[in-house]
Amino acid sequence: MEIDLKYMIPTKGKYNAGVYKCRECDCDLLHGVHGNVHRHIIGFSNAYIGLVAVVECPVCFCNWYFHARNTAYEHFLEFMEEGHLKHFDKSGNNIS
Ligand SMILES: [Zn+2]
Repeated sequence: MEIDLKYMIPTKGKYNAGVYKCRECDCDLLHGVHGNVHRHIIGFSNAYIGLVAVVECPVCFCNWYFHARNTAYEHFLEFMEEGHLKHFDKSGNNIS
């Protein structure tokens, strides 16, 4: 999997094994009103554990990251095409 370099950012926040649940405020990014966690990705990063997706919590604005498998990047691009990303427009420009 090759991530477009324009989406690569420095690692921010902490590793979150729970992926869908904010480490700080417990908000639910799987079934909650904020939608799927992939909509809140602010970029991808090469962390000490490997390639990760970095997320910003829509409620408390803290950052966390999780292992980015192929599906994470695919979901990210799908949501982008559909205009559903919070931090990027349909062309992939950062709007956060
Ligand atoms: Zn939070």
